[in-house]
Formats: sequence, C-alpha cells, structure tokens
Amino acid sequence: MDKESFRRHGHEFIDWLADYLENTGSYPVTPETRPGDIMSRIPSAPPLKGEGMDKIFMDFRNIIMPGITHWQHPGWFAYFPANNSPASILAELLTAGLGVQCMSWQTSPSATELEQRVMEWLRQMTGLPDSFTGVIQDTASTASLCALLSARESATGFLSNREGVREPLVVYASTETHSSIEKDVKIAGYGSDNLRRVDTRGDFSMCPDSLEQAIKNDIASGLKPACVVATLGTTSSMAMDPVDEIADICSRYGIWLHVDAAFAGTAAVDQDNRGFMKGTEKCDSFVFNPHKWMLTNFDCSAYFVRDPDILVKTLGIQPEYLKTAADDAVKNYRDWGIQLGRRFRALKLWFVLRSYGVEGIREMVRRHIDLAAEFGRWIGKENNFELLAPVRLSLVCFRYIPDGTYTEKELSSINRKILERVNSSGRVFMTHTVLGGKYCIRMSVGQRATSKMHVELAWRLLKEAAHSIEDNA
Ligand SMILES: *Cc1c(COP(=O)(O)O)cnc(C)c1O
Repeated sequence: MDKESFRRHGHEFIDWLADYLENTGSYPVTPETRPGDIMSRIPSAPPLKGEGMDKIFMDFRNIIMPGITHWQHPGWFAYFPANNSPASILAELLTAGLGVQCMSWQTSPSATELEQRVMEWLRQMTGLPDSFTGVIQDTASTASLCALLSARESATGFLSNREGVREPLVVYASTETHSSIEKDVKIAGYGSDNLRRVDTRGDFSMCPDSLEQAIKNDIASGLKPACVVATLGTTSSMAMDPVDEIADICSRYGIWLHVDAAFAGTAAVDQDNRGFMKGTEKCDSFVFNPHKWMLTNFDCSAYFVRDPDILVKTLGIQPEYLKTAADDAVKNYRDWGIQLGRRFRALKLWFVLRSYGVEGIREMVRRHIDLAAEFGRWIGKENNFELLAPVRLSLVCFRYIPDGTYTEKELSSINRKILERVNSSGRVFMTHTVLGGKYCIRMSVGQRATSKMHVELAWRLLKEAAHSIEDNA
C-alpha cells in the first residue's frame, strides 16, 4: 500500500469508527447469526494476489459487521464490561504503528519506563501500599498463573536453594472462584485434585472458618498448603471474600495470598466504594483488569506483587542473546511474566488515565454503581421479582417468581424464557448464572455510554417479558 492510500484509508477508518462509537446503540446488541454463516462467506483459500483496501473494507462492513456482538453497546448488561474509549483506541493505533516489542528495556526504553510509571499511578489510584510493584499482563488468567507459579516456587523452597519440599502442594479458593483459577492450577502443575473449593457464606463470599479447617485437615494429612486465591468481585454475584481475615489465616500458616479483583478492582478508584479492599495490603499478589471497567481496550491486566524478586526468580531467564549492558540498572519485563514478546500496552493506559483523569474514571464508576443500586431497588419493590444476592457495586442478580407454586426447575425455565425474550429485542443483552442452585438473571451495568435511560429500558423489557410469559403459561 502506498503512503497516500494509507493516509486516505486511515482517515476513512477513523471517520467510520467515530460514527460507530456514536451509533453503536442503533445495532442489535447480539447478531442474528447461525454457526457457520460468516465462514461460508469467506473464501476457503487465501487470495493469490493482493486486493485493494476498498474491497477489503467493504467486505469488513458486509461480512464481518453482521456477525459482531457489540460489547460497546449502551444496552450491554451481559457478563462484565470490556470498555474501550476514544483515547484508548487512538493509542492502540499508535502502538500498532510503532510495532515495538517490549520484552526488555533495551528493546524500547520508553515502553518499560512508561509501564513503570503508569503502574505506580494505578497503585495510587486503587489505594494499594507503596511497597507494591506493578507489571502489565495480558489477562487476569495469566496474572493469576504467575501468582500460582510464584506460590509454588516459594512453598517448595526452590527459590532459596534449600532442599525442595516434596509433599503435594494445595491451593484454596471458594466455590465461586473464577474458572481461570482452576485452569491455572492445572497449568502450574498442582493437579486439579489439589484445588480445595472452600464453602461460601450466605452472601457467596468465602467462609474463613471453612478455609482454616481445610488447611488444618491438609496439614494433618501430610500435604502442604501453598496458596489461597481470594476473589474480590466474584463473576456470578460480585461477592467479596473477606481478604482481611483470610490474610491473617495465610500469615499464620505461611501461605501465599493472591487476590483476584479482575472486574471489581476498578471500583477501588472511588474512595466511597473502596471498603472491599480492606486487607489487600497484606496480600502477596493482586490483579485487576483495566480492560474490563477502566476504559482501556482489551488486553491490559494490572498485576501487583509485594516482592518482585520472587516473581523474577520464578520466571526470569538469561539467555546470552538477550543480555544487555543496562540489565543491572533497569527492569526487563520479559522476566515478570510468561511470554517473551510483549505488546506496548502501557501507552493506551497512559492515554486513558490522562484523557479521563482520576476524577473522570471515578465519576463513571459511581454512575454505574448508582444505576445498579437503583435497578436493585426497583427489583426489591416489585412484586414477583426477587434479588438472589446482595446488590454489590454494579451487579444485580435476580429472578421472576409468578404467583402460584413452582418447582426450581419450572422457575429456571420461566426465567430462561424471560431472558431469551428480552435479549431477542436486540436492544439490551443480559446473561444468567446459577446461585445456590437457583437460576438467576445477571444485570451488569458498566458500559461507558450506559445511562439511566438504558437501565429503564432494560427494566421495562423485563417486566413486559415476564408478564407476557405469564399470560401464555
Ligand atoms: C474476568 C475475570 C477473570 C478473567 O479475566 P481475563 O483477563 O479474561 O483472564 C478472572 N477472575 C475474575 C474475578 C474475573 O472477573
């Protein structure tokens, strides 16, 4: 592509994106696509000769766009938010244009030093102790894997070159923990049998007494407790594990404490909603995702550790061809994570934090939390609707119960139908979960452009769907 075509298409794409960002709400949130529809429109063999960008872009609009799920839609109430923002998009464009590899300081000094700085900013914004050090990972799954590997190396005594511990190591997490922890436990070699699922209390948070009992049982059986993963903001219900108490248990038994706050962590920016962070100053590692609720394009996960030395000893490698004269004076982030090659992710974070400011992010978070609280009050007041978990931050879990007597199975089926009907409107998108054996609808308020109007629309669609299903029952 010649320079003039690049310039022309660049302008054209930005124009197109500017319109898309403004009009995302006019698309159906989820596409009406059947499996294979999109693939059937893409040739089974690659083009032999290069094609013009006009044609490629036309196919993007005609073939790809119809199969897109619009995560940036203001009616997005599904799973969790994965917000982008104009500032983040522009930074991603520059990152792609620079095309640098950020594995060591020498392979792009600005990338390493900017990453250091923005992670210090995030640490201050979330109220983590000054003694913590941050590094950007691709995802929370990877950050938690780093934590489990560090915990494994610490527990075996490998890092201090002592005679290695040989008894099986055990990891503890609540029954509500994210599926990535189970996967990480497998990858890190603990073995699925050595993941203890600790009971939760009525609000779906980890029960510290059950945790301590499980630890004692394992020690009595000759096993070695290595790591506890506490969750702040569980995926199903935004439950908050009592990190303060869990940290004390961990320190009593010398166990690594990792805190997974992938979704909820952004809320710590708001001092009025930061209570859930109590005790995190005592953890060994902490992760949250700016790529969820903090306006930063996927992927960008913020991983903080109390002692970077353990991380670097666990993951560091020194092949001759990567050694540089600066190694003693700088951070080489290839030693702070799994992969060697690294994207320049700090740039979009820098753009976002400067463009919105701490206050801009705080205001957005508060708006979402206030909207969720209001929606929760509507549910609480309406006959035949019930909350299935306390409303926490931006998440509301609820279901509809018609008059009369119904089995759990019938209630699941009714609520599944309500959810299908609401989502088929194309105007909002919600998902479900199961809490304490009960099927429930999850309303997660967190898209950048979501306002009261969209929450009211969701509520109206829900009530209409509930009543029409009841009429047909
Ligand atoms: C989203 C989420 C994850 C996984 O995050 P990725 O960045 O997609 O790996 C893990 N834990 C919790 C609590 C989450 O909300």
